[in-house]
Amino acid sequence: MATYHYTMDEDRCKGCGLCVTVCPKKVLEISGKVNAKGYFPAYQARPEDCVYCTTCCIMCPDVAISITEEEEAPAS
Ligand code: SF4
Ligand code: SF4
Repeated sequence: MATYHYTMDEDRCKGCGLCVTVCPKKVLEISGKVNAKGYFPAYQARPEDCVYCTTCCIMCPDVAISITEEEEAPAS
């Protein structure tokens, strides 16, 4: 069984809201806290609802989001 991780590089985000709009599970929201560039970045408000579909990563014009797959270490 693989496990997935959602990673957000807050400081690459320009707060355009595209990922918030496209997420089929309404996981993402725009934060009230500014990032290093002075934008309000998106964040996972409901991470438990994320299905790791990668739609947000594909849509983000600034490649701020990545979903990584981590294989569990094989039993030895
Ligand atoms: S991976 Fe899919 S479900 Fe998870 S936040 Fe991105 S768009 Fe939403
Ligand atoms: S699509 Fe990318 S730049 Fe736009 S709000 Fe989402 S993470 Fe930020």
